[in-house]
Amino acid sequence: MSLSLAARMNALGTETAFEVLARAKALEAKGKSIINLGIGQPDFRTPEHIVEAAIKALRDGHHGYTPANGILPLREAVAKDLHRRLKVEVSPDRVLIVPGGKVTMFFAIIMFGEPGAEIIYPNPGFPIYESVIKFSGATPVPMPLKEAKGFAFDADEVLSLITPRTRLLIVNSPANPTGGTVPRAEFDKLVKGLERHPQVAVMSDEIYGQMLYDGREHVSLLTYPSLRDRLILLDGWSKTYAMTGWRLGYSVWPEKIYAQAERLAINCHSCVNASAQFAGIAALEGPQDSAHKMVEAFAARRKVIVRALNQLPGVTCVEPGGAFYAFPNVGGTGLSSRDLQDAMLNEAGVAALSGTAFGAFGEGYLRFSYANSVENIEEAMRRIGKLLVDRLPNGQKKA
Ligand code: PLP
Repeated sequence: MSLSLAARMNALGTETAFEVLARAKALEAKGKSIINLGIGQPDFRTPEHIVEAAIKALRDGHHGYTPANGILPLREAVAKDLHRRLKVEVSPDRVLIVPGGKVTMFFAIIMFGEPGAEIIYPNPGFPIYESVIKFSGATPVPMPLKEAKGFAFDADEVLSLITPRTRLLIVNSPANPTGGTVPRAEFDKLVKGLERHPQVAVMSDEIYGQMLYDGREHVSLLTYPSLRDRLILLDGWSKTYAMTGWRLGYSVWPEKIYAQAERLAINCHSCVNASAQFAGIAALEGPQDSAHKMVEAFAARRKVIVRALNQLPGVTCVEPGGAFYAFPNVGGTGLSSRDLQDAMLNEAGVAALSGTAFGAFGEGYLRFSYANSVENIEEAMRRIGKLLVDRLPNGQKKA
């Protein structure tokens, strides 16, 4: 007898980064040299004082459940950090501690998504948005992000996508996979326009909010008072403190739906690993120099990879303003993004992702994570350069 799964299981997508990682590991196991520019995580260790705080918490006997919404000192530390960075007052009672940023997006989307509802999301964008929107039964409405605008959204275009069925709007700046950042003026225009649509909730994914370059400021939707009662802020420790494996994130919820979010947490995971929560306090309240040094290293690597990409035949790359991704246009190679992804991995030993892993509007692009050493980035670019010169019809080099 065959098992009969719920129909919605067919709607669930995935994050290709994990599949490419598995293929890269399999090739490595066969002895092939692979440079991994595919997976989106800092290549740094979690700072020592954070690790120590978790060890101490375990030694001190923090082995049991914590409150489902997170321990109060951590929620207070989050509120203080938001005040320090963004000058906003947030009550710790609106902060929910969750096992990673992804959990906030899952909760927010299933809370609003159902058949007949529409959810607007960035495309190309983090693939889990579209996946979970479909899983919820809602209709995904892509907000196209274009290279000509530095992959920032166009507020008028976003507002034009809103219909009476729109329940949730997802924004992400700095963005995965493009590294694009949305200028303040565009956010101002969006927020003003949203005043005409009070039924639309907003989820702002600001997980890369502390990874910005060339003096750019982070614009947080949390700072707009008119959104206060309908904004869900997604943030966490994964990227800022090199803590992807700890599974620690937080969200700020509007007061009137906080209890529902907490209830989802109780149904789903009970609470976040207690020792990780103590590590989270140490991260926010301890020295920030390691986090700053990491961003400085990314800034230097960004220059290296963008320059090298622009020298490849058939490739152009705009400077990303944030995160640790470059999103070059590979249209000039004449190859599809997916074919290039596969050729790079199998023939050149470089793992990177097809732009289409982030939605249909990613065709013609690749995503490179530059969370890797300068030597590895340079070697990867040499390998891709050779692949393209061999593959392109007249083997042309760029002038
Ligand atoms: N949001 C974006 C835009 C991301 O790129 C990621 C991870 O890559 C996440 C959220 C999820 O972060 P976490 O690992 O904390 O679940």
